Amino acid sequence: MAAMAKDVTNDAEDGLQELLEKNVESVEMMTLRIVFCNPIGGDPFKSAVVTTQEQLSSLHDYPNQRTNLLKFKHVWDVEKLHQLIRMKRNQDQDQDHCTKRIKLVHDDESAAFRLLEAYLNDFAHHQKCLEKVLLSCNDLKESAMVLNAHLFGPLSEENCIINNHIVRKEHSICGCGCGKEIRRGNTGIGVYSTWHGFVDMIIKENLPVAILDVGESTADQEDEAEEGCVHDKQKSGTSQLIAETITNAFAQVNSNNDHSGLPIPAFGCTPKQLSVCLYDCKNDVLLKKIIPLHLFKKTDSVSTVIMIWLYMNFRLFMRRDVTDLNAHSDLSEYQAQFFASDANIQEFYSKVKLGFTGCKHPDRPILTSVVRLDKE
Ligand SMILES: [Zn+2]
Repeated sequence: MAAMAKDVTNDAEDGLQELLEKNVESVEMMTLRIVFCNPIGGDPFKSAVVTTQEQLSSLHDYPNQRTNLLKFKHVWDVEKLHQLIRMKRNQDQDQDHCTKRIKLVHDDESAAFRLLEAYLNDFAHHQKCLEKVLLSCNDLKESAMVLNAHLFGPLSEENCIINNHIVRKEHSICGCGCGKEIRRGNTGIGVYSTWHGFVDMIIKENLPVAILDVGESTADQEDEAEEGCVHDKQKSGTSQLIAETITNAFAQVNSNNDHSGLPIPAFGCTPKQLSVCLYDCKNDVLLKKIIPLHLFKKTDSVSTVIMIWLYMNFRLFMRRDVTDLNAHSDLSEYQAQFFASDANIQEFYSKVKLGFTGCKHPDRPILTSVVRLDKE
């Protein structure tokens, strides 16, 4: 019996153990500094322009600037993750005694881990479905739906909604042939005067997902015009992701102050990689992480899934002080400087919330003029 029970949870526990062993000392993410952006004026996410110092540093005449690299152990609560593994192992050996204790101490963490276990038990199936759709089509809707049905949905207890503007009700069935119906909903974030729009998906009401079209280059793509086009798409994809990340971070903190001081993630998916941007709007720190999508390669695929699962559960497993400037004074040199982009930023973004309706405020005067008397 004991051996059977262990087999069932083998992948998740061993996978997490292995991930910790391999990554604890390695770099998890980097800070980004914004040099230019257009956060006020009502631009939709897709028209957002965000130029980071990272992008400029690829130009040879731009001065070299340092970035801050955060290690895995500085981002994630490694002790808590080890504890989770230990408790699950005890639980496998002694079901009766430990279950109660886990429920008392680590209810949410345990529940999250069970979802990971269940997903990994079914991983071969999900992998096939993802592969079938992602590798063969370039369609945003189909990609979003298969990622919802076979990655983000199962890992979030199906708490993952897709933008009901891009997927109509009659077409909300996963395209891999599994027949699964996808939950649709209002994925709006922002207000009319800030960056705003409907993101492709929202996981657990707090994590936006953008399906980015980066114009995958093909073998026979030679001329410079095409290359320039790919480059532009990458730039606008990055801008969109950062705008969604920042706007969502404000929306989350405005509705729940518990999130204040935490870098809140948002995902950007392309067929080859998953980018995660995170923003802490209290300390004005913007972070970036690239997760290569090795979902189709057997060796790394479990680590990739666990990494995605960690970000999906950032509230539970991220250290509370990752971007706390008091705890890490060195970080103050690496702030995003989003607030510096306009004197009114904080006022505008204090109104940002989830559930953008897309309407202009009808009864606001368009321009208020003041006659200056003081200079005469
Ligand atoms: Zn499917």
